[in-house]
Amino acid sequence: MSFEGSCHCGAVRFTVDAPVPQSAISCNCSHCRRKGFLLTFVPANLFRLVTGEDDLRSYRFNTHRIEHRFCTTCGTQAFACGTGPDGSETRAINLRCVPEVDLDSLHLQPFDGASA
Ligand SMILES: [Zn+2]
Repeated sequence: MSFEGSCHCGAVRFTVDAPVPQSAISCNCSHCRRKGFLLTFVPANLFRLVTGEDDLRSYRFNTHRIEHRFCTTCGTQAFACGTGPDGSETRAINLRCVPEVDLDSLHLQPFDGASA
């Protein structure tokens, strides 16, 4: 089972070897609210960037622990790279960039990142 995602212009494409998520984290922090993310987190080894490495730039803020990667052509941020609480490499997937996901049927899990 896998699903695919991309930025808007299509320069950046990726696949994730996992079932299409049924739920998403909706975070209210200053960054997530501005970009409108609906996120799911997966182990880095399940994520594969198919195209777009040269089209990506990174944005970091606060503790700089998360590398927010966006397409320099269309500005879309489809994923981010980081490490989980146990130190393992993770990828945060913006489910708005996964066409297979039915956004209206996603079970939203609020996360109070603004207070974290
Ligand atoms: Zn793009």
